[in-house]
Amino acid sequence: MIFEEQVPVDVWGTNTRKHRFALMWRGLSYTGKTHYEAILPISGAAKLERYCQKKNILFISKSHFAVRSTGYRREFFSKSKPFIGKLYICAYCGRLISADSLTVDHIYPVAAVTGSLRLQKKLAKKGYSSVNDVRNLVAACPRCNRKKGASTSAFWTLKAKIGRNYSLWMLRKALRLAILIGLIFYIYTLLPLH
Ligand SMILES: [Zn+2]
Repeated sequence: MIFEEQVPVDVWGTNTRKHRFALMWRGLSYTGKTHYEAILPISGAAKLERYCQKKNILFISKSHFAVRSTGYRREFFSKSKPFIGKLYICAYCGRLISADSLTVDHIYPVAAVTGSLRLQKKLAKKGYSSVNDVRNLVAACPRCNRKKGASTSAFWTLKAKIGRNYSLWMLRKALRLAILIGLIFYIYTLLPLH
């Protein structure tokens, strides 16, 4: 027999009432008002997720894979080197930020991963151990973290993946400096002083 992982799922939403029997048929038990829960094999949970999407019902999977861990911040610091001393670089804006004041950001936000088995599968396929895998964590300044919120747009994801490379920020700074020096020299040659 092939063992299939069991995942706890939660389903809720104002229109669950309409789908009460369909949800119970799928193995969920009613826990109050508009909330249902169950522990299902992963394939059953995937089917349920598709059904919920079609019916516009909020689906949440609570597998260990998708839950914010208590130690992810510690995990980040144990695996990520600072840029210099105790300073890190915000992956989104390139600002230097101290270890004490930086926020550790989940590139794929926990809420998004919790609410989507598709995303969980995608990350599992890439070899992530969970949503708290160090590959899903980047340093962010509080401002960028607030701006990003729970967005899953490709724009933010790409920005994080590129922005975690310190060398690219250095290259950008060097290029800017080179352009500035070039400009100063150019202006200097235009001056009628020599
Ligand atoms: Zn920032």
